[in-house]
Amino acid sequence: MTATESLIAETEAHSAHNYHPLPVVVATADGAWMTDVEGRRYLDLLAGYSALNFGHGNRRLIEAAKAQLERVTLTSRAFHHDRFAAFCAQLAELCGMEMVLPMNTGGEAVETAVKTARKWGYRVKGVPAEMAKIVVASGNFHGRTTTIISFSTDLEARADYGPYTPGFEIVPYGDPTAMREAMTENTVAVLLEPIQGESGVIVPPAGYLPAVRELTRERNVLFVADEIQSGLGRTGRTFACEHEGVVPDAYVLGKALGGGIVPVSAVVSSAEVLGVFRPGEHGSTFGGNPLACAVALEVIAMLRSGEYQARARELGEHLHRELAALTGTGRVTQVRGRGLWAGVDVHPRFGTGREVSEKLMDRGVLVKDTHGSTIRIAPPLVIAKEDLDWGLAQLRAVLGMQ
Ligand code: PLP
Repeated sequence: MTATESLIAETEAHSAHNYHPLPVVVATADGAWMTDVEGRRYLDLLAGYSALNFGHGNRRLIEAAKAQLERVTLTSRAFHHDRFAAFCAQLAELCGMEMVLPMNTGGEAVETAVKTARKWGYRVKGVPAEMAKIVVASGNFHGRTTTIISFSTDLEARADYGPYTPGFEIVPYGDPTAMREAMTENTVAVLLEPIQGESGVIVPPAGYLPAVRELTRERNVLFVADEIQSGLGRTGRTFACEHEGVVPDAYVLGKALGGGIVPVSAVVSSAEVLGVFRPGEHGSTFGGNPLACAVALEVIAMLRSGEYQARARELGEHLHRELAALTGTGRVTQVRGRGLWAGVDVHPRFGTGREVSEKLMDRGVLVKDTHGSTIRIAPPLVIAKEDLDWGLAQLRAVLGMQ
């Protein structure tokens, strides 16, 4: 038995089977490259579902984490700590907002956004008790908690977890008319991914996000943008909403905010919206801890330079040009995305997304499939152009070209 086989067998025996990972066991990683326990190297074209926008082992982030490890790592919010104020102020500034409510995982931040919107609805908008409604889109992915899967349209994500949390209205993604019709005077928020990641990198029709913005403003409804996967540089802008000139009422952030080192998430909004909380009404032991804040502060500083967004823009144009050429051959039926992010529908004659991912793995490229014959490409934004080109050459080879 190889080291890979025995580690996978042990995993299978002792870990719940809630994932079906590709059969590679990573031991180390650097930049856009990972090395497995056999010493084989792989190009990472997934980047931890965008949590690794700045690459593996990013020196600035590692140094920030190390320095903080030696100082203080956790206080809980029972006390103040000296990195918290800067984290909140600088994250709010990056988002053009006023206040921050930190959590750890994306799911927790979405839960926090749901609680925020409901509380705002009752305390500010004046919605009658227990009547608040939140409009969401079909095909959404906002996390895995009981409430969040209650408004998922993915049967696999929902099955056998009922009873489900009420208070959500699901409308087709990309359809402003359906959204208008779903709104009532008790609607407190619209919760949307500006680009749906897990659904296969679905970019809504141009004008959709501005229409939602107008509608929500008209109806005194909060527009909550889940930018956990799309935000922080991935699409070539700090936020995917920017491509449509839209500023939501609240951003939900996670993934890359923790630099791929620690889980850091947050809801970022105005003082009117986040001002609804009083002591004791919400919290998290690890939310906003000193280590998380130190890493996130470095992430924020890196994003402030604009260089990662510019890189995602430039390399993204190149990526989409190359992928468009594949659709011309009929080997790829559709490509969607923005910046360094693409959902690629491979022609089913080349197999399922899983099979294509396995063939790419055999050639030293790691991607992740999603529904059907779709693979997602989302490399670290620091990937070298030559490495990206090499990865694309492997894709072409798997699709029978060259
Ligand atoms: N929201 C979006 C848009 C996501 O893509 C994800 C994760 O993929 C989440 C929320 C959930 O984040 P987490 O897995 O950190 O709970």
